[in-house]
Formats: sequence, C-alpha cells, structure tokens
Amino acid sequence: MTATNSSEVTEKKSLNFVEEIVETDLKEGKNGGRIQTRFPPEPNGYLHIGHAKAICMDFGIAQRYGGVCNLRLDDTNPVKEDTEYVEAIKEDIQWLGFQWGEIYHASDYFQQLWDFAVRLIKEGKAYIDEQTSEEIAAQKGTPTQAGTNSPYRDRPIEENLELFNKMNSGEAAEGSMVLRAKLDMANPNMHFRDPIIYRIINKEHHRTGSKWKAYPMYDFAHGQSDFFEGVTHSICTLEFVPHRPLYDYFVDELKEGKDLADNRPRQIEFNRLNLTYTVMSKRKLLALVKEGLVNGWDDPRMPTLCGYRRRGYSPESIRRFIDMIGYTKFDALNDFAMLEAAVREDLNARAIRMSAVLRPVKLIVTNYPEGQVEEMEAINNPENPAEGTHVIEFSRELWIEQEDFMEDAPKKYFRLTPGNEVRLKNAYIVKCTGCKKDENGQVTEVYCEYDPDSKSGMPGADRRVKGTLHWLSCAHCLPAEVRLYDRLFCVENPSADERDFRELLNPDSLKVLSNCFVEKFAATRKPLDYLQFQRIGYFTMDKDSRADHLVFNRTVGLKDTWKKINK
Ligand code: ATP
Ligand code: MG
Repeated sequence: MTATNSSEVTEKKSLNFVEEIVETDLKEGKNGGRIQTRFPPEPNGYLHIGHAKAICMDFGIAQRYGGVCNLRLDDTNPVKEDTEYVEAIKEDIQWLGFQWGEIYHASDYFQQLWDFAVRLIKEGKAYIDEQTSEEIAAQKGTPTQAGTNSPYRDRPIEENLELFNKMNSGEAAEGSMVLRAKLDMANPNMHFRDPIIYRIINKEHHRTGSKWKAYPMYDFAHGQSDFFEGVTHSICTLEFVPHRPLYDYFVDELKEGKDLADNRPRQIEFNRLNLTYTVMSKRKLLALVKEGLVNGWDDPRMPTLCGYRRRGYSPESIRRFIDMIGYTKFDALNDFAMLEAAVREDLNARAIRMSAVLRPVKLIVTNYPEGQVEEMEAINNPENPAEGTHVIEFSRELWIEQEDFMEDAPKKYFRLTPGNEVRLKNAYIVKCTGCKKDENGQVTEVYCEYDPDSKSGMPGADRRVKGTLHWLSCAHCLPAEVRLYDRLFCVENPSADERDFRELLNPDSLKVLSNCFVEKFAATRKPLDYLQFQRIGYFTMDKDSRADHLVFNRTVGLKDTWKKINK
C-alpha cells in the first residue's frame, strides 16, 4: 500500500486532494502500484516561485509514495527556448532540494509524434487547413454556439499526407497551413473544435537543429510525452482542466483503443501560485530583464528562484511557504507578507548574528580611555548555541544608527537622548550627555559616558535600562554597500490592472546605501550565507561583493513594517 509511516502522519495534518487521489489509486492497485510524476518546464525562462509550487507537488508526491519524478524539458517551440534556461532550471530544482530520476526532452519524441500524426491523417482523423489563423479563429464559434467546418476539412487523405510532408520540408511557408485534428466543431468544449496539432516554425531548435520545421502543439505533445515515459500522475495547474478530455482522447488514440484503463497517465490540476506585488508570467519577467527594468533574472526583486536565492531566502523557507498556502482547486492571490513571514521564521533559527550600521553617526564615549580596545564576546546565534561566538572590539569611538539618537525625544524614546541610559549590546551601559551639530543643524557627533561596572556579565550589568543599541568600533569595522529591496510593484495585483505592467513598477524597490559599516566578521562570510544584522533584518552577502568593496543584500526586515510605512 502506501509508504506513509506513523511519524509522517503525526507531522502532516491531513492529505491534500492530490495525495488522496494517489492513495486511492494505490489502494485500487492502479499502474501496478507504480508512482511516476514529471516536472515539465518549458526552457523559455528561469523558474519562479510559481514553478516551486509545482516542483514541491511533483517531486513531493514521488518522494512520499516511493515513486520517481522525472524532469521533462517541454521544448516544442524553438522560437523562445534556449540551453541557458535548461541549465538554470536544473540548478534551481536542486537548490530547492529535489532530484529528478531521468531528464527527458519533448523534442526526443518528435519522430514518434510525427508518426502518430501521420497515422491519424491516414485514419481520416486529421487534416491540413490552409486558412489563415484569423479565418480559423472566426470559425471557432462560442461556448454556446457551434463552430463552422473548415472548407479543407474533407480533403483527400493523400493530399493531407503530401501537404503534411511539405510542412516539414520547408516547401510550405510559415503560417501557410496547419494540421488539425478532425474532432467536432460543435463540441461544447472549445478545445475539441478541430484543435491545431502542428504548425510550421522556421527556426533552428536548440537540440534538433533544422531537422524539423513542423512542430507539435502543447495538446498534441504533453499527454503523449507523459504516456511514452510511463507517467502515472500528470499534475498541472487549473487552466488545463478544459484540456483534460483532449489529453485523454489523444492518449486513447495512441493506445489504438486497447487497454484503455491500463497505464494511462492521469491528469490532475491544482491552483496556481500568484503573489501580491509581483508578476509571474515569463513573458513579463523576460521583458523586465530585456528592457533593463531589473538587473537580470537573478535580481533580488524578481520572483525567480535565483532572485530569491541571491536575496538570501533559504530553499526551506520557500518550501515552508508553499506548505502554508497548500493545494486547492481555487485560484487565489497569495500574500507576499506570508512568504516573508516564512523566510523570517526559517532564518531566525539559522542566521548568524552580527552588527552593521546602515546610516552611521559617531558616538564618542568621552570617559573611555583613548587608544584602549576591549574584545567583547558576541553570540553567533542565540537560537543555536552550537554556532558559538565571535569577537567584537569596543573602543572610544563608535558608529551607531542616526535614528538611535534624538536631541528632543518624545517620552517613549528609549534610545540615546541627553540624560538617558541605554545598553550597548555585548558591552556597557552608557548615558547620553549631548551632541555636536554642523551649521545646518545636522548631528555630527553624539556624546556619552560609560559605566565601567556595567559590562555584560558583570554584577553592575543587572541594572534595568530600556533600550539596547547595536554599534561598531570605528577603528575596527569595514565600509560596505547595503542594498535594500522592496516590493517590485506598487499595486497588489499588477496582472489585474488595466495599465501596462511597466507603469506599475515601484520606483523605490531598490535603495542602495553606500556609506554603511559592518563588523570585520561580516567580511569572513560568503555569498548566500544567512546573516542577521541585529535590530535591522536578515541579510546575505551579494555575489558582487569583493574584499575591498563589501556588498550585502537585505533579505527581509525583522518585522513586517511595510504596511505601516506605506499607509
Ligand atoms: P508561462 O505561461 O508564463 O510561460 P508556464 O506556466 O507555461 O509559464 P512552464 O514552464 O510551462 O510555465 O511550467 C512548468 C510547470 O510549472 C507547469 O506544470 C505549470 O503548470 C507549473 N507552473 C507554472 N506557473 C505556475 C504557478 N504560478 N503556480 C503553480 N504552478 C505553476
Ligand atoms: Mg507552459
């Protein structure tokens, strides 16, 4: 039966509807108890978080029921596809934590699909239509009104075969003819109204070169590919529900009407992932990249997996988010804030803590001896003592955040303001004594006095002070550039907006702070390490970072402040 064991049962609240279907199929002994799924991306762009939802489903089902999930590159349209995308797709699937069984290509089935199409023509089940695409569209009818038969519908089989060969030989021009399945122009399912199954594309294919000029359409390639490979459960998104009868029809035709219940891949559909404040269409994402509106597919503002990776998201947090939203039969718009919450929760457990000052102002500890340096111990991760500690130097001149000092502060301001005491994290309690300003009234230096008995760990450290600030010793830290990312779009659902998506981009989605400071410890980290700059947020080192020019990306702030700020 199923591979479900008791620990999994207690971990998982309930089965999703796809798991229920799979368990029923297993109980009924379908496919000899075999489970085989596939993830079928078209290599025409980078994978985004929507694909991650499909990946978690396709690979997850195989994992859970002792089956296999293969990677199939759905490369049936040479116009938009490229090997660059193939490599990126593989990298992203592995990063998410999954491993395919085999790698297949829909283009490997071009001959089989061609032979199948020839068979359909010979059986009078397909014909060459020489009308324009507009004429064909005009004859389609509406869901409540039957379509009109093409004048080419009943042309002789021999003529169909001859023209089909011309579609592939280069003798027929692109757009001059298509092959259509001869089904039923009155079928209430519009996909049955003589669907186009082959078209001419005069472009080199990245794998098959110039061998083919006639290319199968999605509906004529997908189900058949599933069948050729032995897929048992072909899981896809809801927009394919109306395609399912056609999927079944072609598979049954392929099986020549024999053993129809046996080894027939079963298409199951779930709801797409849509995220607020972004777009998921590859066409639009490609436009953002091509038009330089973002800095490449892995721009940390992009909803692509490589973008999130570069931004510092962990694969675990993406999987956690997908678990949270679940799989249903209803399309919805998922809240980006929920994804961020999943990221925070995961990074809180694993990020290494350190200090950075993003908008610095100098704090001078006036009673601390000049030239003296003390080494303080900083805990790397309070959530995981095994991560140990590192050293942070303390001295007379420190950097603190500008916003941590206010000359005239409101009552509940628990940071530095003349007369007020705060704790400097891992160091001493200090009392603010004043500040110096330039001619424009800008604070240039803040002054304080420290209490030598209040060092962390000393008896005098017990005194209650309300605020704890982070700081860096001016002589012991490093300059850095910090990139702050925000929502890529300023409207919640750009896809539903009438305006062009380019007009909806958030002009403040990237803020570069070039005068920041970080602990020396930060420079020992690598790109993609999970970091927390204390009191600020989660960060990671960017791939642009160099020893003499450190660059960090903000992954996510510590709290969800976005709504407040933007209202
Ligand atoms: P586009 O139409 O923008 O090119 P696509 O959906 O056709 O995107 P594919 O590469 O064909 O992209 O998708 C591969 C698989 O990922 C398909 O099974 C598809 O259903 C699934 N998928 C794509 N986008 C989403 C999404 N937003 N949510 C869930 N699954 C998705
Ligand atoms: Mg597609």
